[in-house]
Amino acid sequence: MTTRTADKPRLAILGGGIGGLATAAFLRREGFDATVFEQATRIAEVGAGLVVAPNAARQLRRLGVLEELAKNAVKLETGWEFRRWQDGTVLSSENLASSCQRLYGEHTYTAHRADLLAAIQSRVPVEDVILDRKCVGLDTSGNTLRLDFAGGESAEADVVIGADGVHSIVRNTLFGASAATYSGLCAFRALVPADRAPEFARRPAQTLWIGPAHHLVHYPVAGGDYVNLVAFAPAGDYTTESWTATATVDEFLAEFEGWDPRLTDLIRAAGVPGRWALLDREPLARWSEDGVTLLGDAAHPMYPFFAQGAAQAIEDAAVLARCLAEGVDDPATALRRYEAIRIPRTTKLQAASHMRAEINHLPDGPEQQRRDQAYANEDPLLVNGWIYGHDLEASFAETVAVR
Ligand SMILES: Cc1cc2nc3c(=O)[nH]c(=O)nc-3n(C[C@H](O)[C@H](O)[C@H](O)COP(=O)(O)OP(=O)(O)OC[C@H]3O[C@@H](n4cnc5c(N)ncnc54)[C@H](O)[C@@H]3O)c2cc1C
Repeated sequence: MTTRTADKPRLAILGGGIGGLATAAFLRREGFDATVFEQATRIAEVGAGLVVAPNAARQLRRLGVLEELAKNAVKLETGWEFRRWQDGTVLSSENLASSCQRLYGEHTYTAHRADLLAAIQSRVPVEDVILDRKCVGLDTSGNTLRLDFAGGESAEADVVIGADGVHSIVRNTLFGASAATYSGLCAFRALVPADRAPEFARRPAQTLWIGPAHHLVHYPVAGGDYVNLVAFAPAGDYTTESWTATATVDEFLAEFEGWDPRLTDLIRAAGVPGRWALLDREPLARWSEDGVTLLGDAAHPMYPFFAQGAAQAIEDAAVLARCLAEGVDDPATALRRYEAIRIPRTTKLQAASHMRAEINHLPDGPEQQRRDQAYANEDPLLVNGWIYGHDLEASFAETVAVR
C-alpha cells in the first residue's frame, strides 16, 4: 500500500482530453489543485462533432461553461431521427424542441469537439496542464506513485487518474494489457462545410439512416457552419484504430452504393474522410487500485451508438471530484466509492451501445420490419430517460456506505 500525505493529496491526471480536463475542472471546483500531463504539444481535439446530451449539459452548467459552449453549438430541435436507408422514410424521431428541456431540464446540443474542449479548458489554469509529457510507466510500488515520461522526466503523486483514452497505459499497468477484439465495423467521418451540404443535412436535427450492415449519422455543428458526418460499415480486414487515419471518398461511397441519393451527394461533399476501426473491449469489473483509478474511455470505451462516451467521461469527472472531496482523508476509499457509483451505469451503456450495432444493421426482412415498427411505437426521448435524466445526487446517496 502507498502511504498518503496528510491534508490534500497530490493529484495527477494523465491525459488532457475531454475526460482529463473535465476532471481537472471539477476537482478545482471542489478546492483541489491537480496537474494534467498530456503527451501532445498542445491541447486539441480532432475535427469532428459530438452530441451534448442533457446529462452532459447538466454537468457543464455546473462547471459554468454551458452558456459559452451554447454560443458555438447548435441547439437541436429533432433528435434520433431514424430514417430508412433507401428513401429516407422517417421511422421515428424525438421532438426535442418541445420536450427535452421540460423532461430533463436541459436541451440537447451538437458541438464541434474543439469548442467543447475549449469550454472545459477555460476552467483549468494554464499552469496546471503540462504538455509534451508522454507517460511510459507508472510505478505503484513505493510510498508514493511515480509517473515516468518519455525523455526521462518523472512526477510523483498520491492519486493518479488515468484519463488516457482507449489505449490507456494506466489501465494496462493496473489490470494487465488486454487485447481488444475485432468488432467487424469501421467508421468513416467528415466535417462538410455547410455551404456544400444539402439543406436536409443543415436542419438542427440528429439524423440516422439505417440499413443492412451500415448506418450513417449527420448533424450540424459549429453554429451551423459545418455538418458532421459519421458512418459505420463492415471493416473487412481494416484494423487501424486511429482518429487520424484517412480513406477516400470513393471508398466511403462504395459502402453506401444504392442508398438515398441525397446521402451519396452528402458523402461526395466530404473531402478526405477519416476512417478507423471500432475495436471491442469488455467492461472492467474494477477501475481502482492503490490510489490509481481510470476515467473516460480508459475506463469504459464504448461504441458511439448512443453518443455518450464523452458525456460519461464528464459524469465520471463530476463524481470523482465529489468523492475525493468527501473522502479527502482516505483517497483509496474515495476511489472505491467512485467506481461503485460509476461502473454499473457505464457498463449498462457499454452493453446498450453494443446492442445497437446489431439492431441498426439488420438486413431487410421480417426482423427489420419488427424493429422499424418498434421504433415507430416508442418515443426515444422517453425510452432514453435513464440516460438523460440521471441524477448524480441520488447515486451519491445510495453509496455513502461503500468501504
Ligand atoms: C465516431 C464517434 C462519435 C462519438 N460521438 C460522441 C457523441 O456524440 N457524444 C459523446 O458524448 N461522445 C461521443 N463519442 C465518444 C467520445 O469521443 C469519447 O468517449 C471521449 O472523447 C473520450 O474522452 P477521454 O478524455 O476519455 O479520452 P481521449 O479523448 O482519448 O483523451 C485521452 C487523452 O490522453 C492523452 N494520452 C493518451 N496516452 C497518453 C500517455 N501515455 N501519456 C500522456 N497522455 C496520453 C491523449 O493524447 C488524449 O489527449 C464518440 C466517439 C466516436 C469514436
